[in-house]
Order: sequence, then structure tokens, then C-alpha cells
Amino acid sequence: MHLKIITHEKVVFDDNVDEIYTKGTDGEFGVLKNHVPLMASLDIGVTKVVKDGHDKYFTTMGGVFQFKDNEALILTNTAECSDDIDVTRAKAALERAQARLAEADAALDAKRAEAAVARAMARLKATFNK
Ligand code: ATP
Repeated sequence: MHLKIITHEKVVFDDNVDEIYTKGTDGEFGVLKNHVPLMASLDIGVTKVVKDGHDKYFTTMGGVFQFKDNEALILTNTAECSDDIDVTRAKAALERAQARLAEADAALDAKRAEAAVARAMARLKATFNK
């Protein structure tokens, strides 16, 4: 089967794969060849792709997963291959967002801070073996 991961800015991945595991808003799920047609909304998380026994990890930050006729498409706000993730930057972003949440300021946009935490944690999870 084939997978494309596309953001507003670029095609992050475009190749044949054997297995796909990703994080939908209703939970994590996996897709193998000949899966029935599927459409799901994506959460902020990690997408794992297996090809010839090798794993590849990507962050996928919301959007849509579509599967039909062995063609998988991920349309997402932001995606990075684990090789391209700056771990130091993700750690700093996580600390910043957690500090903001801890402020308990009435003017705090908690949803925004929580999303920033989720993005940073997804980046760190995708790079766990770096
Ligand atoms: P930061 O506060 O570090 O900018 P962020 O979660 O606010 O993190 P985003 O708005 O999700 O960043 O992303 C902005 C752009 O920066 C995107 O192109 C994204 O791919 C890139 N980016 C963000 N964090 C990293 C990282 N740790 N490593 C590599 N690219 C990153």
C-alpha cells in the first residue's frame, strides 16, 4: 500500500509501506494492506510507518487520515520526520508550555498551552531513540 503525508507546506512522506499506526481523535489505530475504506480525524501524536521490517516515526498534528484502495493519505497541519526534529527545541517548548499552564493566570489560553505541550511531547516521543 502507499502512504502520503502532506502539510500546507510540503509533502513530508510519499512511499510504499507495509504498516501504518497513527493517533486518531478516538484513539490509536493501525492499518494494513487491504483494509476497508476508512476516514478518521487525527489527534496531535506520532505516526509509525513500517517498511521492509524498518520503523519510521513522524509527528502528525491533527488533520485527516483517509484510506481507500490501498492508498493512505494524511493531511495534517504540521508533520516532521523524527530525523528532522530538534530535541533541544522540543524540550524547551515543553518547559515553556508547562510553565505557562502552571501560572494559573485567568488570562491564560489553556487550550493553546495544552496543544503546545501535546506537540512537544509528540516530538519527543517520535525521537525517543535519538
Ligand atoms: P516552538 O515553540 O519550538 O516553535 P511549536 O509547537 O509552537 O514549537 P509549531 O507551531 O508546531 O511549533 O511549528 C512551527 C514550525 O516549526 C513547523 O514548521 C514545525 O515543523 C517546526 N518545528 C517546531 N518544533 C520543531 C522541532 N522541535 N524540531 C524541528 N522542527 C520544529
